[in-house]
Amino acid sequence: MDERYVREALFWESDPEGGKDVRCLLCAHRCRIKPGNRGICGVRENREGRLVSLIFGAVSSAAVDPVEKKPLYHFLPGSRALSFGTVGCNFHCQHCQNWEIAASRPESFPLRYVSPGEVVDRAVDLGVESVAWTYNEPTIWYEFTLETSRMLKKRGIRTIYVTNGYISEEALDEHAPYLDAMNIDVKAFAGDFYRKIVGGRLEPVLATVERAVSLGIYVELTYLLIPGLNDRREEIREFSRWAVSISPDIPVHISRFFPNYKMTHVPPTPMKTLSEAYDIMREEGLLYVYPGNVPHDSRENTYCPQCGSMVIERVGYHTTDKTDAGRCPSCGFSLPGVWG
Ligand code: SF4
Repeated sequence: MDERYVREALFWESDPEGGKDVRCLLCAHRCRIKPGNRGICGVRENREGRLVSLIFGAVSSAAVDPVEKKPLYHFLPGSRALSFGTVGCNFHCQHCQNWEIAASRPESFPLRYVSPGEVVDRAVDLGVESVAWTYNEPTIWYEFTLETSRMLKKRGIRTIYVTNGYISEEALDEHAPYLDAMNIDVKAFAGDFYRKIVGGRLEPVLATVERAVSLGIYVELTYLLIPGLNDRREEIREFSRWAVSISPDIPVHISRFFPNYKMTHVPPTPMKTLSEAYDIMREEGLLYVYPGNVPHDSRENTYCPQCGSMVIERVGYHTTDKTDAGRCPSCGFSLPGVWG
C-alpha cells in the first residue's frame, strides 16, 4: 500500500485496560479494533495499538458536478462542485448505488493520491464555488476532508458532505466550522430497516441532522423510497413530522429507487408511490419537497411559498435561479438556503 495514504487517525482511544486494542470514535459504530484488524468501514486499522487511516488523499473518483446532483437545491443553485470520493463505507446497504467503491478496500481498487493542496489548487483553477466529499461515505476519510476543508475555507471555497449521517458528535463538532452544507440520507424511519438493510441504527442519523442544523451547517435531506421496505404511508408521515419539527424549511429529496447491487429483486419505485409520499410530506407541512430520479417533473422547480411564483427552474441539471439572492422577485419572500 502507498504509505502516503496512511495517517494517524483522529478520534480514537486506547484500551483503558492497557492492552493494544483501540476504540475508534469517528462514527456511531465505535468499533473496538484488535491489533492488525480494521473497523467496519475497512479503512481504519489498528497498527500496534495506534489507529491509522489508510485512505488519506486516496481518491477513487473525481469530477465537476452541478451542485444539484449532490442533491442540494437551495445551496448556490446552478453552481459547480468539484467532487471527490474514496473507497469503503461504514454502512453496508444492500441497495448501494455506488457499491463498486463503497464495498472496496484500499488495496482492491485503483486509487490516485491527491494532496489537500492539490485539491485547493484544482478548485481555484476550475473556478468552482464548492468542493463536495461524496460518491462514498465522506466521514471515513475524515482526516483528509478536515485538513482540506480548512485550507479551502481560507480561499473562500465552500465545502459539502454527502453523507449517511453516522458521524459521531465530537467529529461533527470539530468539522462544523469548515463544513458549509450537508445532504444527509435518512434511509428509512424504522430501526428494523437500519439493522437489516444498512447495518446501523436510525437514532444517530437523526441526531446528526439535528446537531448539524444547530451548528449552523446548511442541511438538505434525501429519502430513497424502496418498494415494500420503507414506503409505508405511516412511516413517511412520521419522517415528515420529525423533519418539520426541525424546520418546515428543510428541503427533502424523495428519490425513486432502481434495482441495484444485492437488491435486484425489488422493482423500481412506482410513480404513484412517489406522488403519495410527496403529498404526505407536503400535507405535514414540509415546504420544499423534490422528487428525485424523475426526469421532467415540474415538482423539481422551486415555487415561492408565499405567492406561488416559480423562483428556481430545473430541467434535468440545467438550473435557472430567478431569485434575487434568495428573495422571490415577485413578492420579496426570503427563501431558506445559501445564495450567491
Ligand atoms: S469510522 Fe470505521 S472504524 Fe471508526 S467507528 Fe466507524 S466503522 Fe468503525
